[in-house]
Amino acid sequence: MRRKIVIGNWKMNGDLQFSRKLLGELASQWTGVHNAEVAVCPSYPFLLPALFELEQTNISVGAQDLSVNEKGAFTGDVSGGMLSDIGCRYVLVGHSERREYHGESSELVAKKVEAALKHHLTPVLCVGETLSDREQGKTYDVVGGQLLKVVERVGLEAMTKGVVAYEPVWAIGTGKTATPEMAQEVHSYIREALGPEGDQIRILYGGSVKPDSASGLFGQKDIDGGLVGGASLAAADFLAICRAAE
Ligand code: PEP
Repeated sequence: MRRKIVIGNWKMNGDLQFSRKLLGELASQWTGVHNAEVAVCPSYPFLLPALFELEQTNISVGAQDLSVNEKGAFTGDVSGGMLSDIGCRYVLVGHSERREYHGESSELVAKKVEAALKHHLTPVLCVGETLSDREQGKTYDVVGGQLLKVVERVGLEAMTKGVVAYEPVWAIGTGKTATPEMAQEVHSYIREALGPEGDQIRILYGGSVKPDSASGLFGQKDIDGGLVGGASLAAADFLAICRAAE
């Protein structure tokens, strides 16, 4: 039985005051024990406030990226060791915005997954096709290729310690959500590609998930929750999505 999980990706949004307010709302409204797991991934400066604010709650904290390096002369980078040292549990890896704006290759993404696992962080490996990939019928080739690079590096057994997020690039921040059936098709493909271990690995859907689309998506057999961008910046919307995963 895979426990559903909803992860909020705040991206590069908010300031300290905004973050504290949002964290306070989440902490006061997501109380007690829940079937679904919840995590938030603020920007680096707000990780410590988040860890502090959410300490007594069932909401975990994750980062949005990590370095493949351990330490040293890598100005601007943050290592997996640093993230686990302060208490982060999750780390997003290979988000399409990192792949696109920072030229992250699938080889680098695979190394990041490895670095996360080394530091006992749960990597949330993001994969997904662009609109032109989909229109050319290349969705499975692209998603399969992104997955394969990671599997080749860390092995299937290690993948069970991580989470996969299927995020069609054309649906991220665009308001266009894949229909539950479209998403389910790709999730089912991903689960099969992960072999016998696939049954244990949580596969999240990401791409303009909103309160009104969440339950349809999360009701699909192979959709184990969501990675939520825009809607994670408003407590009421994010919590409604979390409740849809219960
Ligand atoms: C994301 O950034 O991972 C994401 C899914 O964003 P949005 O929900 O805004 O599409």
